[in-house]
Amino acid sequence: MTDTAASSAPDAASADQPPALVWLRRDLRLADNPALDDALRRGGPVVAVWILDPQTEALGAAHRWRLEASLARLAEGMEALGARLILRRGEALPVLRALAAETGARAIRWNRLYDQTARHRDAAVKSALREDGLDVRSFNGALLHEPWEVETKTGGFYKVYTPFWRAIAERVVHEPIPAPSRWPAPDAWPVSERLADWAMAADMRRGAPALAAHARPGEAEAQDRLAEFLEDRVEHYAADRDRLDRDATSRLSDALAVGELSARQIWTAARPRRQGAKAKPVEKFMQELAWRDFAYHLLHHSPRLETGNWREEWDGFPWRDDNADAQAWTRGLTGEPLIDAAMRELWVTGTMHNRARMLVASYLTKHLMTHWRVGEAWFRDTLIDWDPASNALGWQWVAGSGPDASPFFRIFNPETQAEKFDPDGAYRRHWLKGAGAEAFHDAIPRAWGLSPGDRRPAPRISLKAGRERALTAYADLRAAR
Ligand code: FAD
Repeated sequence: MTDTAASSAPDAASADQPPALVWLRRDLRLADNPALDDALRRGGPVVAVWILDPQTEALGAAHRWRLEASLARLAEGMEALGARLILRRGEALPVLRALAAETGARAIRWNRLYDQTARHRDAAVKSALREDGLDVRSFNGALLHEPWEVETKTGGFYKVYTPFWRAIAERVVHEPIPAPSRWPAPDAWPVSERLADWAMAADMRRGAPALAAHARPGEAEAQDRLAEFLEDRVEHYAADRDRLDRDATSRLSDALAVGELSARQIWTAARPRRQGAKAKPVEKFMQELAWRDFAYHLLHHSPRLETGNWREEWDGFPWRDDNADAQAWTRGLTGEPLIDAAMRELWVTGTMHNRARMLVASYLTKHLMTHWRVGEAWFRDTLIDWDPASNALGWQWVAGSGPDASPFFRIFNPETQAEKFDPDGAYRRHWLKGAGAEAFHDAIPRAWGLSPGDRRPAPRISLKAGRERALTAYADLRAAR
């Protein structure tokens, strides 16, 4: 079920229409970009700006690097249409006010973000610009459905995934908007800063070359990856998506995180294939994509998901803050081969297989009794696909403190998980001894004091002792309730 397809063709160009500004953020694409489409439809010139503001500078280093790579590709795409991407640095409100004054723009458009930091900033910017007399509108460019559009029968929000999925599985998703074929230019393009001067990820300690070898930034690349996945690989998705040693998932999360691709584009491309032999794997893929919307649904209705235990009773759990075991975990030095392989995959590629994310999160929060916030912060700094909602939900889900969480007493055993999901050891060998290990050693900071010839460390704690310690703490928490 879909509604009618929207068109990106501007309505008849009107010479006397003042320019419109589009404030791009994590929506770095031309196609299915509702804010851009609305600005173009006004018929006047359009100026798109991306602002390196303090909130953006505070994002994780790997994510900033990924944004930088994506901005470069978007600028190329815009140039092909005769347009320029304007880059400015500073607080969003004064930058937008200055640009509106320079260009004579009377309208500003953007696509919504949903994390607390962005929501507060955007609400303040919107009301100030409206007081200035500007026409300001925001759009849903990121999600299948706005978090407030999906409601339980009693008008509340969903806290459990399966009913959420049932509520949206057959719900109308707008057809994506095609990319614009032309871009009305202003009389003169405003001055832009240079992307290279910003060195957005200068503080990324592993250095950009390690990540550049793995990431494929850009809108066109993302669309190709989606098409290739749905054409050639999706049929193995349901059976193999948990296999660490197979390339069975879409690897679209980093493109989604910077908005090179929209969830709607993925959903509407997948949906017609939900039939015949591919029905089951395609449905499974759509269900996983819906977890992303579910994470945003929860984040919107419970902003504390990002910062504190969603279930407040977990505030009394004796999790440790940062500690030597956690440091070893970040460096792939826990002595548990599967955990260390996964942490090295993260350091080298800026991503990690979903099953591996669950295992390292369980190991940190349970065997190493370390607060999920420590792991969440490490992922925030090192993932190129960092997503405020999916990261927070993923950590709280594994730790047991989140909505619809896996029970704390379900403690993954990395050895039995390795037997199931890396049966021949190919994934572990790659990251601990093979080409992946070499790439890891090329990318580690000197301060870590590691060299390729180092012996593998002994486990920080035995699996049995770590499990018992965690279960005892859990029993104490329950007894204290
Ligand atoms: P596919 O299996 O091909 O799935 C397609 C898309 O569906 C993904 O790109 C993603 O957007 C979405 N998706 C799939 N699984 C999940 C999930 N469990 N939760 C939310 N969305 C999902 N995902 C992020 O995008 N950013 C994060 O910062 C992030 N942090 C995580 C932290 C932990 C502790 C855990 C357990 C999971 C986290 N995830 C995160 C979810 C998931 O691991 C990744 O989305 C997935 O590994 C991306 O690979 P893929 O694109 O090949 O996924």
